[in-house]
Formats: sequence, structure tokens, C-alpha cells
Amino acid sequence: AKRKLQHFAECNAETPDGKFLRLEANISSLKELEIALAGGATGVGLFRTEFLYMDRSRFPKEEEQYEVYRSVAERLGGEPLVIRTLDIGGDKQLDYFEIPEEDNPFLGYRAIRISLDRKDLFKTQLRAILRASIHGAVKVMYPLVTSVDEIRAANVVLAEAMRELDAEGIPYDRNIPIGVMIEVPAAVIIADLLAQEVDFFSIGTNDLLQFTLAVDRMNEEISHLYDPFHPALLRMIKTTVEAAKERGIKVGVCGELAGDMRALPIWLSLDVDGLSMSAHSILPIKERLLSTRQDECREVWRNLQQCRTSSEIIGKLEAFMELKD
Ligand code: PEP
Ligand code: MG
Repeated sequence: AKRKLQHFAECNAETPDGKFLRLEANISSLKELEIALAGGATGVGLFRTEFLYMDRSRFPKEEEQYEVYRSVAERLGGEPLVIRTLDIGGDKQLDYFEIPEEDNPFLGYRAIRISLDRKDLFKTQLRAILRASIHGAVKVMYPLVTSVDEIRAANVVLAEAMRELDAEGIPYDRNIPIGVMIEVPAAVIIADLLAQEVDFFSIGTNDLLQFTLAVDRMNEEISHLYDPFHPALLRMIKTTVEAAKERGIKVGVCGELAGDMRALPIWLSLDVDGLSMSAHSILPIKERLLSTRQDECREVWRNLQQCRTSSEIIGKLEAFMELKD
């Protein structure tokens, strides 16, 4: 069976009726990159840069970051690489960077909020990303964005980093695509406004689900409520994709749900541009994609939108995908 799956690594990720879907990998280390490439990933849709900052005693220097970003970009040989700027806080802590004790760390000092507060750290990372951008198809992505102002403030720091590199005569991609994670309900609701500020969206279903349902993604006690097929999440996804399409920007999905077989008809019917997932999910998803018709998925999707409960939704998806008898 493994050999059979390996065969799929070679061919295009396309449905029988011609819908091409980019299947990319979420990685947080160089080792994961190798697994992803062996699994047929066409690019990295989410490079979680936190690992560069963890397990050490100080912030990584520009040069150290540049070396890593550059080697990943080169290893991808021209396939896209989406580098997400630092997303610490919440569940991810650094030994050498004290975040005061918080009652609600997931709603606290984290991600783009830290970057905009510590512009020194942010600019160092952006400079490293910019320098790596001439070695591949590098894009930059901001996490946990909730407003247009945050995007603009982040872009001011990016422009500053560009000016510095110009002055130093260091080359970079002037047109580096800029994207945001859509992972907070506020971002979904103003997706039409955010879409006018960026080149692409990537839907982070892990946090989006946590915030939409008010269910802590780490809390075992309520894990049964962490339900990715809740109709509210499906509506959030629909709103986001439609806003992106309306404004003509790319939209992908990079949360865990992207690698869930049951969700494939949703992505195909909404016509998302790409899915980014754990390395091990790529081949199984790709195999199914090759035999799943987009027009049939659209039919299923129309039915899903009539459903009132997630169990009905799951039932219809499983029946269509023949995941249960
Ligand atoms: C997400 O929130 O869906 C996501 C992809 O990012 P992370 O899991 O790193 O928060
Ligand atoms: Mg997230």
C-alpha cells in the first residue's frame, strides 16, 4: 500500500474534472520538510518559525534565521514557501523571553501582537525573510491578525526592513507576496476589508475553531466540543473564501482540517487554491483528490448548508466519501 501511495507523489493533484489543488506541507523543522517532500508536497504552505526561537537561550540572529530560510527556499527549488512570522505566546513559550502570567494566554500577548510591540525582533525576522526571498518563491504571512491596522503596521516594519537592505545594497524580492492567517472570527467578519490589504489568505482552522466555539484547543475536558464540522465553522470558512474570491486574492487552508479526508469535498466545492497540511496527510488526500469530482462536491456542499448539526454534516460527508459503509 505504501508503494501504491508513493506512486501518487509523482502525479499532479487534480480531480477527474480538472480542478487543480495545491497540496502543501505545514512544517516546523527541516526534518519535516524532507518528510513532506518525500510525500509529494508541492511547496510549504506554512513554515512555523517558532522552532528557530525555541530550545535556545536567546533570540536567533538575522544571519541564523536567514541561513535556515534560505536552505528551505533552495530545497524547494522554486515551489512556494510561506514563512509565517513568529507566533509565540498562547501555548508556545520561550525560556528567555518572559511573558507575564496571563489568565487567558490564547487571548493575550502573542503572535503579531508581540511582533508589533517588539519591532526590533520583528524587523530582524523580516530582514532574514527578505534576504531569503531571492532564493526561491518566498511569501511572508502574519499570524493572528484581527484588523486592517495590524496589517498596515506590520507592513510599515517590512518597508523599513526593505529600506535598510536597499541602503546596504542587499538584494531581495521587492514584490514578495504578503498574506495573513485568517484564524480569528473578527478577521472572517472583515475578510472583505482585509482582502484589500494583502495578496493571500490562509485559513487557520485550529485557532479559528477555538475562537469561534470558545473552546480552548488544549483543554482535554472539553475536547468533545472542539468540533470542526460545527456549522458555524463552515460558515466562517465560506465567508472567508468568498471574500477572497470577490477581491481576486488567493485563499488556502492550513489548519488541521485541511488534512481531514472528510473535509475534502468542502474545499473542492468552495474552490480554494491550496491546502497545507501535516506531511503524512498529503499522499492520502492526494489519492482521493484524483478520484473526487468537483461538480459532485458542489452538490454535496449544497446539501451540507441545509444541515443544522455537525453530526448530519459529518454523516453526509462520510457517506459521499465512502468513509463508512
Ligand atoms: C491554526 O491556528 O490553524 C494554525 C495553522 O496555526 P497554529 O496551529 O500554529 O496555531
Ligand atoms: Mg494559529
